[in-house]
Amino acid sequence: MPTSDRLKRHLPKHEFVAGRICLDFCNTLPRTRLEADWDRAETPDDFLAWAQRGGIATDRAPAADVLARLLALRAALARIFDAVADGHRAATGDLDVLNAELADARAAERLVPTERGFVLADAAPAAIDRLRHAVVRDAEDLLTGDLRRIKRCPDHDCLWFFFDASKNLSRRWCSMDDCGTRDKVRRFRERERF
Ligand SMILES: [Zn+2]
Repeated sequence: MPTSDRLKRHLPKHEFVAGRICLDFCNTLPRTRLEADWDRAETPDDFLAWAQRGGIATDRAPAADVLARLLALRAALARIFDAVADGHRAATGDLDVLNAELADARAAERLVPTERGFVLADAAPAAIDRLRHAVVRDAEDLLTGDLRRIKRCPDHDCLWFFFDASKNLSRRWCSMDDCGTRDKVRRFRERERF
């Protein structure tokens, strides 16, 4: 099915609700077996459309090998975040992928002088590489912080990741407009028995 048709059928589910780019990127994966749950970054054009919907600065669809590298990172990250959400240890192979990408991101960092001192900038010439580095640095930041804030939507038809930035760790749903509302309706129906 062409992407545009799939979009018409399956949007809107609110995208970019995770609050962190590395989690939003993992949420492009089909997280359930539902027919409506499709890989939003499966092809270069899918990826470009997703990035553009999120206002991510990418000028063109990635080459196949560039996308393959991004998707390998995505698969490793999703398994790591699932392990975190389940209270399990992340698999060594997945951490190896993340660490290799982290080393790549570090290697691209340069101190650049500005009018008010220095800033750390990413010197990779291709925007798509800088995006991959940004995803990796974001994952590093998340995983070295409070792991309780990395959550997975409890709706079995969703399972999207999100970052709980609330003071008392009370965020429960990927999006109140989607799964939160669906849960409210479900509970109301159960109560009213219709
Ligand atoms: Zn959800």
